Amino acid sequence: MTVFVPQSLDEVVDRLRADPDATLIAGGTDAMVEINDGHRRPGDVVVALDRVAELRSWRHDPASGTVTIGAGVTYTELMAPPLATWLPALAEASRTVGSPQIRNAGTLGGNLGTCSPAGDGLPVLAALDATVRLVSADGERIVSVGEFMVGVKRTALRPGEVIADVTVPVLTGWQGYAKVGVRNAMVIAVAAACLVVDAPARRVAIALGSVGPTVLRCPEAEVFLAGAVEWNAVEPPSGGRVAAADLARFAELVRTAARPITDHRSTAEYRRHAVGVLAARLAGRGFEVVEEAA
Ligand SMILES: Cc1cc2nc3c(=O)[nH]c(=O)nc-3n(C[C@H](O)[C@H](O)[C@H](O)COP(=O)(O)OP(=O)(O)OC[C@H]3O[C@@H](n4cnc5c(N)ncnc54)[C@H](O)[C@@H]3O)c2cc1C
Repeated sequence: MTVFVPQSLDEVVDRLRADPDATLIAGGTDAMVEINDGHRRPGDVVVALDRVAELRSWRHDPASGTVTIGAGVTYTELMAPPLATWLPALAEASRTVGSPQIRNAGTLGGNLGTCSPAGDGLPVLAALDATVRLVSADGERIVSVGEFMVGVKRTALRPGEVIADVTVPVLTGWQGYAKVGVRNAMVIAVAAACLVVDAPARRVAIALGSVGPTVLRCPEAEVFLAGAVEWNAVEPPSGGRVAAADLARFAELVRTAARPITDHRSTAEYRRHAVGVLAARLAGRGFEVVEEAA
C-alpha cells in the first residue's frame, strides 16, 4: 500500500483525480478501527489528511454570521473558545465524544465521513442547517447536511471527492446537546438530541441521533414548540416561557418522529422513550418552564 501525505487541498484533489477510490484517513479513530477489525480493506492508496492546513483551520465571517470549520478540525478544538462560544451545542457534543485521546485525533469531517446514526457531531450540524462543501477534480459542490447523510453509514460523497469544510450559522439563542448511553463516558449514544433556538427568528430546531437510520429532524415538534413559547420581547432576545403541558406535548411529538430499532445497544422502546426525555430536558434548559399555559 502507498500512503500519501499531501500538504494542501490541491494535492489531495490531484491524488484523488489519479486514485478516486483512495482511502482517506483523517484522525483514523473510525477508519483504523474498521481496518484493524477486518471490517474494511484499505485500497492500495491511502491519503492521510492530517497535514492539510486548509482542512485543519476555521474562519468566522461576521458579515454572513457563519463559521466555516475545516473537515480536519478536532473535537478538542471545537470545545475551546472562540468556536465553543459561537457554537455551544457543537462544543457540548464534542465533550461527550470518546476520551481525550479520541477528541484530540477525531475530526468533524471524519464524523461526517463515517455517518453513523450515533455520530455526536451530526445532530448538531443537522439542527443548525449546516452545509457541507465537497471538493473534487471536477470542482466543488455544496450540499445541506441533510442531503449529505443518506443512511446508516452512507453519504452523498462521490468517488474522488473530499469533504473540505462545513459552514454553520452563529445564532442568537440557547442551544444544547444531550445523549443517553449505557455509561457516562466513552460511550456511543443509544439516543441523542440537539436543540437549537434562533431567538430573533422565534424558531427552534431539534435533531435526533441514534433513533433512526440517520439523523432526524422533527419539523412538527419544532413548529409546535416555537408556537407554544411566549417569547421574550426584551433585547437581546434570550428565549421565553413555555407551559409544562406544552413541553410534554413537544416530547410526545419528538417520540413520534423517532424511528428507532432494537439492536445490541438498546431496544426501540427505550430509545423512543429516552429521546422524548432528552427533548423535554433540552427545551427545559432553553426556556423557562411554567405550570400555567404561556
Ligand atoms: C474508543 C472510541 C470512542 C469513540 N467515541 C465516539 C463518540 O463518543 N461519539 C462519536 O460520535 N464517535 C465516537 N468515535 C468514533 C470517531 O472517533 C468519530 O466518528 C470521529 O469523528 C472520526 O473522525 P476521524 O478523523 O478519526 O475519522 P477517520 O477514522 O480518519 O475517518 C472516518 C471516515 O471518514 C472518512 N473521512 C475522513 N475525513 C474525510 C474527509 N475530509 N473527506 C472525506 N472523507 C473523509 C474516512 O475515509 C473514513 O471513511 C469513537 C471511536 C473510538 C475508537
